[in-house]
Amino acid sequence: MTTILRGKLLRWAGDPFEIGDAALAWDEDGAVAFADGRIASAGPADAVLAAHLGATVHTQPDALIAPAFVDCHLHYPQTHVIASWGAQLIDWLNRFTFPEESRFADPEHAAAVARAFFAETLRNGVGTVCSFCTSHPQSVDAFMAEAERRGLRAVAGKVLMDRHAPPALLDDATRAFDETEALIARWRGRGRLQVAITPRFAPTSTPEQLDAAGALAAAHPDCPVQTHLSENTAEIAWVADLFPEARDYLDVYDRHGLLRPQTVFGHAIHLTARERARLAEAGAAVAHCPTSNAFLGSGACDVAGLKADGVRVGLASDVGGGTSFSPFATMRAAYEIGQSRGRALTPVELWWLAGPGAAGALGLGDRVGNLAQGFDADAVVIDLAATPLLAARTARAENPAEALFALAVLGDDRAVRETWSGGRRVHRRADARDG
Ligand SMILES: [Zn+2]
Repeated sequence: MTTILRGKLLRWAGDPFEIGDAALAWDEDGAVAFADGRIASAGPADAVLAAHLGATVHTQPDALIAPAFVDCHLHYPQTHVIASWGAQLIDWLNRFTFPEESRFADPEHAAAVARAFFAETLRNGVGTVCSFCTSHPQSVDAFMAEAERRGLRAVAGKVLMDRHAPPALLDDATRAFDETEALIARWRGRGRLQVAITPRFAPTSTPEQLDAAGALAAAHPDCPVQTHLSENTAEIAWVADLFPEARDYLDVYDRHGLLRPQTVFGHAIHLTARERARLAEAGAAVAHCPTSNAFLGSGACDVAGLKADGVRVGLASDVGGGTSFSPFATMRAAYEIGQSRGRALTPVELWWLAGPGAAGALGLGDRVGNLAQGFDADAVVIDLAATPLLAARTARAENPAEALFALAVLGDDRAVRETWSGGRRVHRRADARDG
């Protein structure tokens, strides 16, 4: 059975950091056809409808149909400590994050938060996430079970952490290895699920544990590695103290076999020229987390500079250090951070980072983040007139980029009319109460 969504259609023809606004393929009357969980075709409505006679057609003439958003770095266990006041990174971890993560020893708590988490991501049009869990394997089981129940594509991993955190959250090198191996055996490739190798960040792992993580990375080249890099200046000084043999922060990961194309580094704000060059050479990716960076006072990432250096970059919320599940809020913050650095990201660049950029960071650039034949049947239906102000502003837009920018600045979950995943509608705003 084939399902067609018809409306204004946003697709991607390239990377706007390389080819500018020509990267945006926009059909004023477009359509995307879903069959067997994949996209059968996408483009001008006439052609798609003619190719799929007899399909069920959902027409949304006043809406924008876009690839479901991808969030390439966030922490589902922090869903309910979002919006915690007054601390920078290390203090914030100790005061808010670690006490909350300790509760994930309880599988029922983990399951309840996983349910609430996916209700929020889908309410905000996010189709694919890559999440940290906690050091408890049951936190990963709860996340994966909920993603599987909803039929979503998702990536997540057990946090590896064997020092500088409360004892209840610590594992050790051997347990980190064994528990991650077991999770990979249980969840990798089940539905659309993938397991990430997830050392929290260099300061909370001993060199022995980073070696174990590197061994996992070598044994499972298809599993992404996710961690944090160069977020906060106090953190960077701490890393230099803990790893005096390393040339810089990135070199700690490099020495332990954790720097490779399928590695996603959250933040990467205060990099040296050597680190930037090495990131590009290794083909690793940066998850830019602008609401988190502003909220925790971490600094302003040089996204345009990283892209110009050849580093892959995607956009991410970093909830709960980040302040919103909404990709609109994240795009707006990325714009503001670009402004503060003297290089405003364009509307097309912002939307690309929240779709193909984030998907590419996860090694999923041929699966999600675009509406193209063979991609997952994941899409978001966006109401261009969700609020009076948004309606007035988008009505004045003289081109698609202007409408996209208005959405990024003024939009929120009220603009997400529907979210589709695997060819099924998994969120409809008209029906939603609390997910
Ligand atoms: Zn993070």
